[in-house]
Amino acid sequence: MSHESHFDLIIIGTGAGGGTLAYHLAPSGKRILILERGDYVAREKDNWNPKVVNVDAKYNTKELWRDVDGKELHPHTNYCVGGNTKFYGAALFRLRQKDFGEIRHHGGISPAWPIDYDELEPYYTQAENLYQVHGNRGEDPTEPLAGKSYPWPAVSHEERIQHLADDFRAGGLNPFHTPLGVMLDEKNPRLSPCIRCNTCDGFPCLVHAKSDAQVLCVDPALQYPNVTLLTNALVKRLNTDGSGHQVREVIVERNGALEAYSADIVVVSCGAINSAALLLRSANDKHPNGLANSSDMVGRHYMGHTNSVLMAISKCPNPTIFQKTLSVNDFYFGSKDFEYPMGHISFVGKLDAITLRAGAPAIAPGFTLELMAKHSLDFWLTSEDLPDPNNRVTINRDGAIVLTYTPNNLKAHEQLKAHLQNAMRQNTCSIHGHECHQGLFARSLYVGQRIPLAGVAHQNGTIRFGRDPKTSALDVNCKAHDVDNLYVVDGSFFPSSAAVNPALTIMANALRVGDHLLQRLHVPIAEYAGNETKSTVPQPVAG
Ligand SMILES: Cc1cc2nc3c(=O)[nH]c(=O)nc-3n(C[C@H](O)[C@H](O)[C@H](O)COP(=O)(O)OP(=O)(O)OC[C@H]3O[C@@H](n4cnc5c(N)ncnc54)[C@H](O)[C@@H]3O)c2cc1C
Ligand code: SF4
Repeated sequence: MSHESHFDLIIIGTGAGGGTLAYHLAPSGKRILILERGDYVAREKDNWNPKVVNVDAKYNTKELWRDVDGKELHPHTNYCVGGNTKFYGAALFRLRQKDFGEIRHHGGISPAWPIDYDELEPYYTQAENLYQVHGNRGEDPTEPLAGKSYPWPAVSHEERIQHLADDFRAGGLNPFHTPLGVMLDEKNPRLSPCIRCNTCDGFPCLVHAKSDAQVLCVDPALQYPNVTLLTNALVKRLNTDGSGHQVREVIVERNGALEAYSADIVVVSCGAINSAALLLRSANDKHPNGLANSSDMVGRHYMGHTNSVLMAISKCPNPTIFQKTLSVNDFYFGSKDFEYPMGHISFVGKLDAITLRAGAPAIAPGFTLELMAKHSLDFWLTSEDLPDPNNRVTINRDGAIVLTYTPNNLKAHEQLKAHLQNAMRQNTCSIHGHECHQGLFARSLYVGQRIPLAGVAHQNGTIRFGRDPKTSALDVNCKAHDVDNLYVVDGSFFPSSAAVNPALTIMANALRVGDHLLQRLHVPIAEYAGNETKSTVPQPVAG
């Protein structure tokens, strides 16, 4: 292989895992090739058009997967520079300290991680700084201990959400400000990159003010001459040497032709489903069940959270523009009347009538869809799903992804809904009293799709890390047990899914694995520190 096609390190995928790792390793001086199957998301007015984004699904992949019965499945995922962080809601949570240990759920056991919270804590702090998280420490009763305060103050509530927070608090709950990665500077609105709009969660940010992996990681990494990005570069398979212990070739389809690249170290970060699929497709005679799969763990234990969007309809309108500012974790580990963990309550972006029409909820009596959209508080509920070896990613004869998933731990989610219903009933309003709340209405998340199969936003768990090569595919540094130069840094490594959004944990872990790789590549820390980027994005203003 020529010098041009050999690198020190190849990173496959530019999302929360791959993008963050590229940023961290860029100052090392090592020759790094980043391979991304998608392109840059075009900056255009359509970025903020609810019909184009939510109904026409312009930016979703058109790829088709299959369910276990062979039926076509259109996954709600995005292939682009920055990966799914281009579209995410940027709620950036740490897992709870207890999430790293074994937890008994109503539906079974959530297993312990091979590292504890303290090991990831400094990297959570780094990730919060890198992704400019806005939050207030000390408000969330389940929040783990943190070494530093958030780099930015929390995004403030608008009036209706503040009213709800006050009501929840009066009812004995501890609502808190959701930690968010949006570059909003409320003290200097004139200079603030973020304009606090109503098209954030699920939309790309037209003004590049969302803390996504393209804007904050990939673009700054590309300022280094030692870093190269190839877009529209679909990695088809990884070939090993004769011993099977080294990845020797990365086979890429680009411009309709196949190309081969090689590197001393290869990092896979295609998202939990595509990374498992890539390893399975890379089977060879030394790895007959898929690359790095002597444990038979690759593709298994797929998790994606049990999620619901619940619209709480009130007689009072909800004119909120940016709704994702409030969360409730009082039921995360259980309550007096249900001793098992239930999960996390927060918000989606404010729903509008166009988006609602696409996932039509039951209509509240006396309301139209337009009226419902004007009066709804749009909650996002997340409960932990448990790792089941039969929930898995496989490949069919044509090489297409097959996703098999039976939801579990559903009682926890029912209980979470019931607790929210109860909390809403207790709310009072100075105009309508207790009658203000009209009920909770589920919004179908994915029209015409089998739920929850198509909803793969929180995918994780398919290449779990652990200390035992019989029960895990990756070691604690996220290196494949079976292959000496292969790492995985996307959401695949999770042994359990917890019940908060996954991205910050993926980012923090990529930074942790990045430090391990710097050592492995013998990068002198002093040299590395001297080379580190000055951030190209606005930093907190003192005071
Ligand atoms: C609408 C939406 C809202 C969300 N909101 C939140 C939120 O508020 N908070 C939160 O924490 N999380 C949220 N998430 C989830 C979050 O975006 C993901 O957890 C995170 O992006 C996963 O990171 P990753 O690195 O595992 O994969 P991804 O970010 O998906 O990146 C994988 C990358 O690999 C590329 N790729 C795939 N296969 C190949 C291949 N064969 N060759 C080359 N490249 C390949 C893809 O194109 C992609 O760029 C949301 C997701 C969505 C879709
Ligand atoms: S301007 Fe702010 S609120 Fe609007 S999409 Fe961008 S980051 Fe989100």
